[in-house]
Amino acid sequence: MAPSLRPLPPLPWWSGGLPFQCTQCGECCRARGAYQFVYVGKEERRALARFLGLDSAAFTRRYTVRDPSGYRTLRFSGGACIFLRDNRCRVHPAKPVQCRTWPFWPELLRSRAVYAREVQSLCPGSRRGPRTDAAEIRRQMQETRHSEAADSRLK
Ligand code: SF4
Repeated sequence: MAPSLRPLPPLPWWSGGLPFQCTQCGECCRARGAYQFVYVGKEERRALARFLGLDSAAFTRRYTVRDPSGYRTLRFSGGACIFLRDNRCRVHPAKPVQCRTWPFWPELLRSRAVYAREVQSLCPGSRRGPRTDAAEIRRQMQETRHSEAADSRLK
């Protein structure tokens, strides 16, 4: 009997890579629509606390709140992340996974249309610069997924 040939899964629309070069405009650090939370799991809070010379409990009290579902998020002030100063991230070397992997989040890469609406309309960096290749995009998507899974255990 001839072996059955399963169709290959289609390549993702971003398989040729995507341009990205941050212009440090700070737009992705501001609240917009459904995006008004920067989630911080226990490890991320520890790293941020260490960076700021605080203990984790003090950091959590001072800089985080719970979202309506009970997850820890960074405080926002004036519609932006509390660590955004003069369009720069004050905690850049220790910033949470969600910030490091923007804009290569699984939910934003679902389709070209979603990416155009949620990312390219807002982020000038996503329309310029060298291409990030598909392997790196995939790695950042995985990192985001792992972080979200860890957060769900640390609610
Ligand atoms: S919106 Fe894009 S260009 Fe602006 S700070 Fe964020 S990543 Fe950089």
